[in-house]
Amino acid sequence: MFKGKKGVIMGVANHLSIAAGVAQYLHEQGADLAFSHLPDGKMEQRVRKVTDPLGYEIVLPCDVSKDESVTEFFAKIKQAWGKIDFLVHSIAFATVDDIRCPTLQASREGFKQAMDISCYSLIATSRAASELMTDGGSIVTMSYYGGERVVPGYNMMGVCKSALEMTMKYVAYDLGQKNIRVNAISAGPIKTLAASAVGDFSKMLGFYAKGSPLGRNVTQTDVAKSTAFLLSDMSAGTTGEVLHVDGGYHVMGIPVGALD
Ligand code: NAD
Repeated sequence: MFKGKKGVIMGVANHLSIAAGVAQYLHEQGADLAFSHLPDGKMEQRVRKVTDPLGYEIVLPCDVSKDESVTEFFAKIKQAWGKIDFLVHSIAFATVDDIRCPTLQASREGFKQAMDISCYSLIATSRAASELMTDGGSIVTMSYYGGERVVPGYNMMGVCKSALEMTMKYVAYDLGQKNIRVNAISAGPIKTLAASAVGDFSKMLGFYAKGSPLGRNVTQTDVAKSTAFLLSDMSAGTTGEVLHVDGGYHVMGIPVGALD
């Protein structure tokens, strides 16, 4: 499905990362991949634990909260490849203090930082990546239902996801003329490093497993397959879309079984 295609994956932290699942699946489909890591030797090692077994060599530092870091990262990708076909943006951050407290108590600095890393970064990375998508391309970001409806425990990150989804749509509008598509996956809860910051996360997993039409939690592979669909020509007519990969949870007005 991806033979001859080159793409950048941002957001692998360890083998549990959604981005790691995406990398594994795209690898199986023949893609050539490059990765970012947070600029710190330990983070590079962690990312390489995922990428080395797949045989990928381009693993470069990038902190999306710094313009010069984003510019440098994509300049190196350009040097290596000239052009790319896709970008996976699988990045979010908020301090535990700012996500674990009621939204009403979130700090100004914490809010700015969370919005910067979790939302503005889609603008910064899409701008840089689109310069390399000279034959068109596809960008996918990762969102969550807490950006559409209030999810207790998700708190201020829900505000960031709401902004991220709208940002995705405006960026899709900006890049449409270059035949670059931009879409989001709204994934159900999956146990990862970032998810551990969310309050009552394991209760959430149980709630989704019972309350969604498919009656189970989704996996990194479920998300990876839908990401591959959005990155590939199979979705050539789709942009500005939020595709839910949540076992159907979001269609329920009252979760399955709640009235039993
Ligand atoms: P994860 O912790 O594995 O990934 C988060 C990534 O963000 C890490 O690789 C981290 O290094 C990166 N990151 C943080 N700050 C950064 C910065 N300044 N510059 C560059 N990278 C930075 O967790 P994950 O669950 O795989 O999260 C990936 C995406 O999926 C996030 O946007 C998250 O909100 C979203 N998502 C997760 C779930 C879930 O339940 N796990 C559900 C829906 C959406």
